[in-house]
Amino acid sequence: MKNIYSNIFKVNNNNLSKAINWLKKRELVGVPTETVYGLAGNAYSSKAVKKIYILKKRPSKNPLIVHYYNLEQLKNDVVLNNNFLRLYKKFSPGPITFVLKKKKNSLLSNITTAKLKTVAVRFPENKTLRKILKSLNFPLAIPSANKSSHISPVSAEDVAQEFYNSVKIILNGGSCKIGLESTVVDLTSKPKILRPGFIGVATISKALNIKISINNNSRIIKAPGMLKRHYSPGIPMKLNQKKAKNNEAFIVFGKKYKKGKNIFNLSYKSNLDEAAKNLYKTLRLIKDKNYKMICVCSIPQAGIGLAINDRLNRAAK
Ligand code: AMP
Ligand code: MG
Repeated sequence: MKNIYSNIFKVNNNNLSKAINWLKKRELVGVPTETVYGLAGNAYSSKAVKKIYILKKRPSKNPLIVHYYNLEQLKNDVVLNNNFLRLYKKFSPGPITFVLKKKKNSLLSNITTAKLKTVAVRFPENKTLRKILKSLNFPLAIPSANKSSHISPVSAEDVAQEFYNSVKIILNGGSCKIGLESTVVDLTSKPKILRPGFIGVATISKALNIKISINNNSRIIKAPGMLKRHYSPGIPMKLNQKKAKNNEAFIVFGKKYKKGKNIFNLSYKSNLDEAAKNLYKTLRLIKDKNYKMICVCSIPQAGIGLAINDRLNRAAK
């Protein structure tokens, strides 16, 4: 696609240096990650992270995930524990976020952690972002690069559409490999999943050799900022539908559904990973086409299907 936005830059050494310099100056940069695009700022700097909250219109009580290059960088800020080390060895760098206890002398801004005594940390796998993290002597607070409660961005153009020129530079890393936010696992006491993602509950249970629970939508979401309404296209949505009217957008899954102008198939091959990757792109497309109602068929509640259903449930709130 032709780049019509002046703040989208391709990834090369020159542009990486530019991005790194902006971050050092406490400015924000749009970055690709393997999950969704992020809005990055110095997690130690209140000035930088304040800008994230303002630009995203994010409630100040919703803490940010802090992204590190490796354990060496992390050690000063959190208290490590065995469950964390196990999961770290197995899944990091990758699409998993760990909630840990914050160290008293941590340099993290209180605004980054919404004044909590805990902090959510992640080690992203995306090569571009890893190069950036490696060259900085501070970690990056990176929420998804969208206005609070909107659809998460999965391309550099999505980020530009959200923020226009208020972000100095958006690095274009192509479309996101996974397309859904990271799994969030709370390891401050008995492990529990706060947000389902690509790495599933069964995989994490197996790695820890214990049964872990999941805060699903039918229960009250306890984590601060686990906002019920989220990922929203701003159009009413009906879930678990068998059919839709011609003037309604119909999001479907699998080849049993006919093709049609208003039919948006997340995966003809009934592949849940592919469906996850297509979800936000599809919601944005439907919004651009000005539909007034979205119907969604039922999506299998297995593997990453749990994460897809989690996002759909919140989008429909
Ligand atoms: P996002 O809004 O996509 O940046 O995702 C960040 C998620 O991580 C939010 O749902 C936060 O509530 C959650 N989170 C961040 N820090 C913490 C924390 N210390 N404890 C529990 N959840 C957290
Ligand atoms: Mg988000």
